[in-house]
Amino acid sequence: MDFRKGPKSPGRTRFFTVCAILALALAFLFYIAVSGGSAEVERETFAMGTLVKVSVYGRGEASLTSAAEAALAEISRLEELFSVNIAGSDISRINADPAKPGGHEVSAETYELLRLALSEAEATGGAFDPTIGALVSFWGIGTEKARIPSAADNDDIADMQSVVGWSKVSLREASAEGGEERTVYFVSAGAGQALDLGGVAKGYAADRVAAILRARGVKSALVDIGGNLVAIGRSPKRREWRLGFQDPFRPRGNYFASVSVSDATIVTSGAYERFVRKNGVLYHHILDPETGYPAMSDLESVSIVMEHTGSRHNSARSDALSTALFVMGFERAVKFLEGHGEVQAVLVSRREDGPAVYVTDGLKQRVAVQEDVFPKAKEVGR
Ligand code: FAD
Ligand code: MG
Repeated sequence: MDFRKGPKSPGRTRFFTVCAILALALAFLFYIAVSGGSAEVERETFAMGTLVKVSVYGRGEASLTSAAEAALAEISRLEELFSVNIAGSDISRINADPAKPGGHEVSAETYELLRLALSEAEATGGAFDPTIGALVSFWGIGTEKARIPSAADNDDIADMQSVVGWSKVSLREASAEGGEERTVYFVSAGAGQALDLGGVAKGYAADRVAAILRARGVKSALVDIGGNLVAIGRSPKRREWRLGFQDPFRPRGNYFASVSVSDATIVTSGAYERFVRKNGVLYHHILDPETGYPAMSDLESVSIVMEHTGSRHNSARSDALSTALFVMGFERAVKFLEGHGEVQAVLVSRREDGPAVYVTDGLKQRVAVQEDVFPKAKEVGR
């Protein structure tokens, strides 16, 4: 067979050009029909004791809607596993009989989250400790049962504090019996201990939601689980997301700084939303595992910023770290950050001469502090 081509005739070239244009036009029409054009879908719910908002952007309203609804369904599913307020959740079953011989069988997700929580507890020297549950429910801060203990309660607090200790939790994996190819997961805690994942589970849920959205092809989305943010890709304006840091001195929605990021998680802990005040003393919901009392922190807020591109649980990690660094206070938190370059942070500390803002080196180019709304803030540190 002869593959050599003869000279092209002008009529043939025109014919092929027209065909190519028609094919492109058809492909474009097909794409518009399938994708449905550019769209934005927002879904909100109340879950895990907080407001949840998932905003997805892209093409194809139907697929974006289904992705956003799958995201909310996942958060509800995880709440059923992790909540201490839901009887029969994995965590409630453990807390009802913490030292059960052989442990309690739990879901793969509970196991994975506990493993991560224990690892962060170790990394933070126990400033974050998921075995703090008895104290969290005793204080009840942020709930209708919030209480300010009297002197008579000091012994009870000391008893509850004495059983806190992440190293007493043990995790065990085994192969399912009966020839099934399946791993089963078991957890046991120390006698008298109660687990509480309030300081880490919203971040884990945000990680899972981001994974679901990405797996469904979503390229631009913002997941907000009570202030635990994951920004997927770039904003719908095709620029980096510009996200605000809550001003700890003013009502929700007022910001003192903003950060420009893409594919990142931002998680904030502070004492300004869940607290009770009595006789001028502020009792808040972040407890110091070493004392059993609300952490006497000189920090007003801690925001952790980490990259968020895929498989790792960086929002859960950021959640645990924001709680831990708040407990540590300014000096210890800065030391911790100096040893963990992958963790970027914005700290607002309380000093005699007014509040000060500390921004880690890796964020300096990305964070803009709005001096007009936070006039007394000074930049400190590096
Ligand atoms: P973070 O700093 O991230 O966490 C503080 C929380 O962590 C505390 O509230 C406490 O739970 C725990 N904690 C305190 N000190 C420590 C410490 N040193 N180490 C480790 N953990 C610590 N709230 C309700 O009012 N009603 C509900 O029904 C409800 N259900 C929830 C279900 C789930 C699955 C989860 C994860 C949380 C739920 N919450 C509920 C709690 C609530 O939404 C938040 O978790 C809580 O307000 C704290 O989140 P944060 O981001 O403010 O603070
Ligand atoms: Mg936290």
